[in-house]
Amino acid sequence: MVQKCLNCGNNDIRVAEVSSTGSYGPDLLPGTGIFRHAKFQVGVCTTCGYTHFFVLSEDIEKVKKSKKFRGKFDLE
Ligand SMILES: [Zn+2]
Repeated sequence: MVQKCLNCGNNDIRVAEVSSTGSYGPDLLPGTGIFRHAKFQVGVCTTCGYTHFFVLSEDIEKVKKSKKFRGKFDLE
C-alpha cells in the first residue's frame, strides 16, 4: 500500500475495504469467485481526491487464477 498520494505526495490517505462487484454493479475483478469475489482496498487522497485501488494481498492469487484476466493489454 502506498504511504503517499501518487499524484500530489500528500500522506493523508483514507483507506477502506470494498467489494469488487455487487448485485447490479459492474464486476471489476471477474472470475475471482462466486461466493466471495476478490476485494479491494481503496485509498482516497484527502488533498486532491486521487483514488488508489489495490487488490487485497490474500486475493491476488484469485486474480492470477482467473481465466478472465490476460497477461497484457490489447491496446495499440
Ligand atoms: Zn493527492
